[in-house]
Formats: sequence, structure tokens, C-alpha cells
Amino acid sequence: MIKVGLNGYGTIGKRVADAVLKNSRFQLVGIVKYTPDYSSKMAFKKGINIYVPPEKWRDFESQGVTPKGTIQEFLEESSIIIDASPSGKGFANLSLYKAAGKPAIFQGGEKPEVAELSFSTYCNYDEAVGRKYLRVVSCNTTGLLRILCVLHKEFNVKRARVLVIRRGADPKEDARGPINSIKLESVEDVSHHGKDAMLVLPNVKIISQAVVVPTTLMHVQYLDVEVATPVIKEQVTEVLSRYARILLVDPKKTGLDSTSKLIEAARDFLRSRNDIYENVVFENSILVSGNSISLIQAIHQESIVVPENMDALYAVAGVKLPLEKVVEETDKLLGIGG
Ligand code: NAD
Repeated sequence: MIKVGLNGYGTIGKRVADAVLKNSRFQLVGIVKYTPDYSSKMAFKKGINIYVPPEKWRDFESQGVTPKGTIQEFLEESSIIIDASPSGKGFANLSLYKAAGKPAIFQGGEKPEVAELSFSTYCNYDEAVGRKYLRVVSCNTTGLLRILCVLHKEFNVKRARVLVIRRGADPKEDARGPINSIKLESVEDVSHHGKDAMLVLPNVKIISQAVVVPTTLMHVQYLDVEVATPVIKEQVTEVLSRYARILLVDPKKTGLDSTSKLIEAARDFLRSRNDIYENVVFENSILVSGNSISLIQAIHQESIVVPENMDALYAVAGVKLPLEKVVEETDKLLGIGG
């Protein structure tokens, strides 16, 4: 079994940790925690090993959480590190991993230079195999790239224009906003999402703009895509429906016409933490005319990158399986498409 260590056990880290625990190819060595909060206690009760900075050891013990070891021991015992630290901290952690000679997978909040390759499964899995350092792109970029790479493979995408309607904060983030505004994400002409996506899909011109809205549940994206030759709607829906990580939802038949209803459905389907790993494409929103395809999709920011983190582990570990099998294993264990 390949020994995986998780540095950072917040929104992304705890979800990826649970995914690793489900996969018998990997062994979760443990997690690094920096404060002895309720999630440390929950992880400890679940039997997950907790590694801490040496100076914090007593704080953890005083909260009834006995650490398994220090960060140094965590590094020694792990074969691959998944870094899910707050944006920017991963870059600082890189030197620790390099000094310990350990491969690592970073998240989208880091600058691209943190890794050899920015990664999105459907786009560049084969290129990622055997790499030492990968960066799984951010939630919005993962959602964007999944659909663009699927369309590109089939229809040869020439350019894409994207409007990202970004959630203001994650549900737990009570200090972020906006509370009563729709705000431009950036004062630049474009948002970073398109540029980030083009690192992975360089031959497609992707231009994105973004606004931030007072909601915590999901992002919504509007895409306007130009492909090489004329297509019809049936071709587009048929292609999208081949991929389990893209969920076509018909609001007329299902009543699901909003992010809040999607999250409620995820609760009703007993998805862990109401996670939706799939891009939810509203079927009625797919408009096709000549070479142009437009659509609206919803992206659950807290969980969308979990499958890609798992696939990244396969790639870095050099598991000898073709892309389709890797995706099949990850999807099955996470209940994707089910
Ligand atoms: P988070 O704040 O929820 O969790 C980060 C965790 O890292 C916390 O538990 C914190 O205690 C711990 N930590 C603190 N200092 C650390 C250090 N030096 N090294 C390692 N861990 C440390 O953050 P998050 O939302 O899970 O984001 C993690 C990364 O994932 C970021 O790069 C972010 O941009 C990216 N990401 C976040 C989302 C999202 O919607 N939350 C989606 C996709 C990608």
C-alpha cells in the first residue's frame, strides 16, 4: 500500500482524507493539525493519526488528543504528501517536502510554480503520470476544464468565454463576504480562471470574467464555447452524458433549478457532507447554434476537486492503470454519477 500523508485538514483536506481512507491502494498515514479544535478530536476518535508541530504537542494532549508524532515524523512516514493548507502556505511547505525527498500534490490556491504541472484529470492525466509535484487546479478551474476538455476532445474547441458567478465564502467562513452586494472579483479586465485553465489547455483561448455573490453553497458558471465545425444539441448532450463527472440535470423533470435545491438533493441522496463531486449542467441551458455551444453549470466548491486529488495520487504514485480505469476506480469509491 502507498503511504499518503495529508498536511492541512480543512474544507478540502478532510474530504480528501476520507477519500483516501476508502481506497485500499493507499494507506492514510495521518494528518497534520495545527490547532486542537473539534475536527482534531473527531479525526482522533475516527482513529486517524495526528501529527503536530512540536511546540503544540501539549495543547493537543490537554484537549485529549494524543499526537502520533511531529511534522518531521509525518514527513518520514509518508511516501506522498497531499498538501491542503491555506492558499499560499503550500508554497512555504514545498521546501519541507523537498528536504524530505517526498513527492507532493498541491491545491489551486498555490501559484502554478509550486509544481511541475497544473493538473486536471480529463485534460492531462497521462502527462501527470510519474511527476513528483502536481497542482490540482482550483474549484472553478476544475469545473471549467472538465467540460472544456471533454468538448475539446470531441469537437475541437477554438475559444471559450466564461462568466464565473463565484460563491462569496464556504459555509464555515463567517468572516468573508460580500453580504449585500454583487462584486467584481477583480479590477483587472479578466479573472484568473481562464488564464489558469490555459496552463492546462494551452491551445484554446479561454477568457473569463467573474463576479462574487452573497451565497455559500456553490459556484455557477456560464460558458460560451466556439468549436471547429457546426454541431447540434443532441451531439453535445450525448458527449457530456458519457462522463460520470458531468451530471446533466433537467430542471423541468427534477425540479432542480437552483444551487440550494441541488444541495438539498445531495442531502437527500445521503451524500457525505452534501458533497456534489460532479459538474451539474442544467440541460435546458444548453444552447447550440452552428459552431457555438453555451451552457450553465453549477460547481460545488467544497468537493469538486476531491476526485482530481485522488487521480493525482494515482499519477504521482505511478499506479499502472490507464486513465479510464483510474477514473472508474475513483468514481466508484466516491459514488460519483450514482
Ligand atoms: P481551510 O482553511 O479550510 O483549511 C486549511 C487547513 O490547513 C486548516 O485546517 C489549517 O489549520 C491548516 N494549516 C494551517 N497552516 C498550515 C500549514 N502551514 N501547512 C499545512 N496546513 C496548514 O482551506 P481549504 O478551503 O481547505 O483550502 C485549501 C486549499 O485548497 C487552498 O489552496 C484553496 O485555494 C484550495 N481550494 C479550496 C476550495 C474551497 O472551496 N474551500 C476549493 C478548491 C480548492
